[in-house]
Amino acid sequence: MNNTLKFLIDLQEIDRQLFEIEEKKGSLPEKVEKLESQADIIKSELDGSRATYEEYQKELIATKGELMDSAEKVKKYQDQLYLVTTNREYDALTNEIETVKRNIAEMEARQLTLETAIEALKEMIASSEEQSTTFVEQLAANRDELKEKSDLTDARQIELEAERKELVAKIGERYLRKYNRILKARRRAVVSIERAACAGCHKQLSPQIIYEIQQMDKFIECENCGRILIYNPSEE
Ligand SMILES: [Zn+2]
Repeated sequence: MNNTLKFLIDLQEIDRQLFEIEEKKGSLPEKVEKLESQADIIKSELDGSRATYEEYQKELIATKGELMDSAEKVKKYQDQLYLVTTNREYDALTNEIETVKRNIAEMEARQLTLETAIEALKEMIASSEEQSTTFVEQLAANRDELKEKSDLTDARQIELEAERKELVAKIGERYLRKYNRILKARRRAVVSIERAACAGCHKQLSPQIIYEIQQMDKFIECENCGRILIYNPSEE
């Protein structure tokens, strides 16, 4: 086999792997970023629930205090009822008692609402905390895994680039320029025959050209796309 062809086939394989690495690398930081923003959302939701919980707790304590004050007020007014001497005073006091009792009923309703909401929030916070813990653990594990993968990928990339350099030194300038130009435009510069056609652009090849490609002793380009054609019996 023509040596240049052999080198170009090897070069294409190296470049294929380098392309793959570039693609993988591109998506790694994106993945971590996505996980992090999800963790942030869970955390801010949890913070919100906790703040509301605190707020409701404070209001509940205040409401309970006011209820006690109001109950005392009612008791005090009722005691005063025995001391009044005129109907006007009596009516004024009973009115006052009714007003305080209405407030009490309102506050009791609010107390019930708060207690129900606090119970629900408590459950929500507990399950959010559980979720958040699991998520943070997952994120840490994923980050480690991604970091490890990225390091491995970096090492492989350096290795491949060194191999490429060595290989490139063996290929004639003219062929290399041609190869690089097609690689840049078409991503794959070296292709085999596929169903009697160029595997890159699917242009049918004449039996004469196919025969020549099969000999693997000449540099043959696809006349349609310019890719370098090789014979690979396993892909035939
Ligand atoms: Zn072609």
